[in-house]
Amino acid sequence: MNTLPQTLPPFALEPRFVARVWGTHDLRDWYPDLAIGEAIGEAWLSGDECPAHSGPLAGQPLRHIFAEHAPLMMGDVSGSADSPLLIKILFAQEKLSVQVHPDDAMAQRKGFPRGKTECWYALKAAPDAQVACGLKPGASLAAIEASLHDHTLENWLDVLPVSTGDMIFVDAGTVHAIWPGSVLLETQQNCDLTYRLYDYGRPRPLHIQESLEALRLHTQAGKIPPVIEHDRTLLLDSKYFRIEQHTLHGSLTHTQLGSAGDSPALSYLFVGAHPVSVQTADQQTIPWPANSLLAVPARCQDFQLTSVEPAKLIRIVARQPAAH
Ligand SMILES: [Zn+2]
Repeated sequence: MNTLPQTLPPFALEPRFVARVWGTHDLRDWYPDLAIGEAIGEAWLSGDECPAHSGPLAGQPLRHIFAEHAPLMMGDVSGSADSPLLIKILFAQEKLSVQVHPDDAMAQRKGFPRGKTECWYALKAAPDAQVACGLKPGASLAAIEASLHDHTLENWLDVLPVSTGDMIFVDAGTVHAIWPGSVLLETQQNCDLTYRLYDYGRPRPLHIQESLEALRLHTQAGKIPPVIEHDRTLLLDSKYFRIEQHTLHGSLTHTQLGSAGDSPALSYLFVGAHPVSVQTADQQTIPWPANSLLAVPARCQDFQLTSVEPAKLIRIVARQPAAH
């Protein structure tokens, strides 16, 4: 009975909700059954502690699933065998702190497996929604440091309007801040290092020295225009993740979702609240609750997605950075 499985079925993950000072008390449109006490800022969709919703792995936290099944989850494993991506939904009702994340090299100097490059896909945006992403031309380290003392850092931030469907890339080292007005699907390297540069006087710790060390005056950050491919729209292709949008109307198989020539890779699927059914080759139905992720291991049993109504499917594919 101890033979190791050759494949894993896809499985939904149960979100974990995180209270934040800038969060909301109203998630009726997203999670109608959720009882809310403190304001919720983040729904962690692929957090290390998020359990599998059903199937043979039901109840096991993602951290444990990676520890036990890394080769099945990720294909070829080089380097650390923990979960490479953290995907969240952010519900900002106020401005978040102005912050910066370290790159891989700086994070590894501090004893962490990886840095944090992230991106935001706008699931919803009010007409006045904005984010701050990067520094204006002419910024220098001295000017940024001085602006912290006289509370004028915002003047140096490049501010972008956000519309539903926008993809914004935020590479490590980019000074950034999420502002209210949008609900963002955030994909990031699974790293818990955030350096706060400025927090609007809120009583949370700042990390000025680390921020100044991590920040870069020029980065690749900004809005990424979509690229229409023959059967999908490419939203972002970065070193750490590739994000695509598919239109699901009728049925799509796991094989059809893959790109020709790709080696097997871990991916996550998101469809919001649309009713999409997931069936394995042996006709098992896999439950997939609204606004949760379907985890698709690199070594995955074939399955089919079906939707009667047209549904917008976001597919997030993990990339293994080359081993050095
Ligand atoms: Zn961030």
